[in-house]
Parts: sequence; C-alpha cells; structure tokens
Amino acid sequence: MRLGFVLDQESCIGCHACTVACKQENDVPLGAFRTWVKWIEHGEFPDTKRAAAVLRCNHCADAPCVTICPTVALHKRPDGIVDLDAARCIGCASCLQACPYDAIYIDDRAGTAAKCHFCAHRMEVDLAPACVAVCPEQAIWVVDFDDPATREELDRRRAAPRKPERATRPQTFYLGADPAALDPLAVDGARTLSHAEVPDPMPAPGTSEARAVYDVPRRRMWGWRIAAYLVTKAGASGALLAAALGLGDPRALGAASLVLLAATGALLVADLHKPGRFLFLLTKGNPRSWLVRGSYVLLAHGALSVPYLFGAASLPLSVAAGAVALLTSVYTAFLFRQARGRELWCEDRLLPFQLGLQAAAAACAFGWVWGNWSFSVMAAHAAFLLLGATTAPPTRHARRAHALLLKHPAFAPGLVAAAAAVAFPPVVLVAFALLDWALVRAGQEVPLS
Ligand code: SF4
Repeated sequence: MRLGFVLDQESCIGCHACTVACKQENDVPLGAFRTWVKWIEHGEFPDTKRAAAVLRCNHCADAPCVTICPTVALHKRPDGIVDLDAARCIGCASCLQACPYDAIYIDDRAGTAAKCHFCAHRMEVDLAPACVAVCPEQAIWVVDFDDPATREELDRRRAAPRKPERATRPQTFYLGADPAALDPLAVDGARTLSHAEVPDPMPAPGTSEARAVYDVPRRRMWGWRIAAYLVTKAGASGALLAAALGLGDPRALGAASLVLLAATGALLVADLHKPGRFLFLLTKGNPRSWLVRGSYVLLAHGALSVPYLFGAASLPLSVAAGAVALLTSVYTAFLFRQARGRELWCEDRLLPFQLGLQAAAAACAFGWVWGNWSFSVMAAHAAFLLLGATTAPPTRHARRAHALLLKHPAFAPGLVAAAAAVAFPPVVLVAFALLDWALVRAGQEVPLS
C-alpha cells in the first residue's frame, strides 16, 4: 500500500475548510499550518484570473526529511504515510531545511517539529483525514498509488505533483492546478499579499506575471548560532590540522582545538528547541543523517585533540588527526547536501573543496603565530571563494538564492577579508564569520511554497 492524496483543484472552491478542520483536529497553533490554501492572481484588471492550490506534506516516497532527521522521529510507515514521533524529536529544524515544500513547522509550545501525518489516528480506525471529511466539494481524495487503476486514471487526467525535479517522488498529486500556484518561483512573492498577515515577508527577487494574494507566514529557522557554529568548527579543524602538520606548539594548538570544539558543541545544543534531548543524537541516532555522522566526527576530533594537550607527536597520530580535522570541516557539505529544500546549499558542488581549503586556511591562521603558514594556501582559499561567487548554480531556486547571497551586506566584506588574509592570515576568521552568516541567511531566503 502507498497512501497519498489527490487534490482536485477543478472542484476546489478555496473555502479554507480543510485548513480549519486540520487545525481543530490536530491542535495546530496560531500562525502554523499543516495544510493551507494559497491563492494567486494573474493579469491586470479586467483581464484577471485567480487560482488556488491546497498545499501540504506530499508524503514523499523518497522523503528527504526522513533521511536528514537525526533521531528517526520522522519515519515512513508501511502504508506510505510520513509520520513524526514527537517523543524522539530534538527540535533541530533540519527537516525544515530538507523538505522542499515548506510542509513542516516547529511547534513552539512543544519545541518539536510537526506536520501533516495524514490524520493517521483517524485512518487507523477507518475514518478519513479531517480535511477529506470536511471538504464540501469532495476535492481531496485519499488514494493508494499501488493500485494500477488509480495510476492509470491519474495519468489520463494528467495529475501533476509539486516540484517533481527535486526527485522526492511526492505522493500528493494535483488535478487541474494552475502551475503558478504550485511553483513558488512563478509568483512575485509575499510582497503582494492583499489579505494575509505575514509579519516577516521573504524578499522576492525578480518579477513575474503572477502574484500571491493569500499565503501563510514562513520562518527562517537557522540563524546566528548555526553561522557561529560553522565558524568555531572551522577554527577547531584549523587548530587540529595545524597540530597534525606541526605548525606550532602542540599543547597550545590542542587546547585551541578543544576550546573551539566545545564552543561548537555548545552552539549546536543551544540551537535545539529541545536541548535537553541532545544525547538522542547518539542514543537514538539515524546513521543516514549527516547530523549524526557529524556528531561522531566531532567526538573523534575531541579524542584526537587530547594527546596534543600533552605534547604527543607521532606519524600515526598526525595522519589520523589531519584526516579528522579535514572531515570536521568538510562534513557540513554533506549535511547541506541532505538539506534538499535549500538549493543554494545542496546544489553547491564546490562546497566540499571550499570547506577543505577553509580548514587549510584556518591552519595557516594558527600557524602564523609561529611563523609557519603558506601564502599559496591563503591565495587558493581566496581564489576559490571568488570562483564560487562567480559560478552560476544549476537550478532556478539556487540561482535566486545565489543572487541574494551576492547582495547580502556581509558577503562583499567577507570576500575582502579573505583577500586581506592572503597577507595577514588571522583575518581569515573574520572572513569565515561574514561569509558563513551570508550563506546561512541567503540559503533560507527563497520561499519553498
Ligand atoms: Fe512531507 Fe516534506 Fe517530508 Fe516530503 S520532504 S514527506 S513533503 S515533510
């Protein structure tokens, strides 16, 4: 069985009854939605057209939220429903970055993620989901996509999913939907909302013939703590790499590595909405999630920093410490690749190399204290940043986010700091702070729904 929804937009009258029934049934808080009706308009008066689309979780067959969830709180049930076990959720918000459809929110009352779960509690007692039961036009259907007759009928009627190019194999299809209502890049963004209250609208680069006139608020979930975590992690990888390469006093470098690693861990835990559950990362870990794999890398980093505190030096230690230091820096690229909703991050094929060079540049910043650093490494780091800034990403979403990145007030000063670090390596830490802040913010600017 592979349960999914069909939204018949030819029958839908946009009455919002499904939204209200879902909120009532699932105790959805104010300002959050598990399903909502987005309205768009085309044209100029009197030649105008309005269209609605009912948006929600797609119960994807290849669900990126399930892959990235570090504690298996999000999981795929045998009947195809993507469900969430709030008792395992640590509130890291990584699923919000992985879902390309804006289908998840953080419930601030509980500190955990929440989303459409197909009213699984009703389905288990042979009741239809609340939205299906309430819809006055019978425009929401529950279907089994394993049924060949259903698939044939949907093919015949040209049912379409949202963003098929994201390769998540959505199990929610639309009949007769206006493509602009399903494509967040086809409308001119939240600035044109006429009757919806959006406290912090996303910018809408570019122009379009369609306008969103009713939509829901969105939040950028990752902020300064994640940007700061990237900086302290880069610093920790640089200190350990410098120790492994013998660029300075091993005791001082081991201590710097551990202090920066502790700061990295503290920032990560502080950013959780359920910080008391941080050990779930290790005790209930999802081995496919780079949040979990990254935690193990950070543990190894700490373990390999300790011998340097006591002045140890040997070839096997140097090889292991050097490899782990590089991995500490680079694993973020693999984590970002799992954030399939944020295409600026996940489509950046240069990022692993850039982060490797970042570790080397940070090592030079520490080695500079003892007069051991490489002009070539610092120049390569700056040149690679310039290459990234001038390389157009492969997707429409990523190109829009990339344009916002270049315009971010921290980006140009960050590049200048990276260039200055070629002559004075410690400044590279300022470059990290500015560029990571711009990357974290710009990556979340383009609306997903
Ligand atoms: Fe639902 Fe988004 Fe997860 Fe797909 S990725 S199953 S739409 S929450």
